[in-house]
Amino acid sequence: MSGRLTVKKSNIYGKGCFALTHFPARKKIALYEGEFIKGSRKIQARIRKQSETAVKIITLDDDHAIDGAVGGNETAFINHSCDPNAFIRIVPGLKVAIFARRDIQPGDEVTVDYRDPDHPEVCRCGATNCRSNRKRS
Ligand SMILES: [Zn+2]
Repeated sequence: MSGRLTVKKSNIYGKGCFALTHFPARKKIALYEGEFIKGSRKIQARIRKQSETAVKIITLDDDHAIDGAVGGNETAFINHSCDPNAFIRIVPGLKVAIFARRDIQPGDEVTVDYRDPDHPEVCRCGATNCRSNRKRS
């Protein structure tokens, strides 16, 4: 655990990941840690299993993924937002890192856009440009 992030109750969904310190825009926040999974079948099976609760798997490519549910850090609790303050990047060495998209202040909830095609119909991220708002209008 980094000491720069914490997990607590979120207004978006369940628990969320919150900054304890200032992260300037474009700076790395943390690595997305977890179990490294190899093999597309294994990855798909685990996504299906987790889809009943919360999917904590980030796929690097068809054959490699990281499962934050196993040995993950605070970043496994990052919620989706349609107007996020952070983004996910695959970095050298088949690792995944979270970067600040804009200045993040201590106490801010860290959010990313998972760009999930299965983005829930009802999203509670609260962003003015939320995709579920757009669907309604
Ligand atoms: Zn949304």
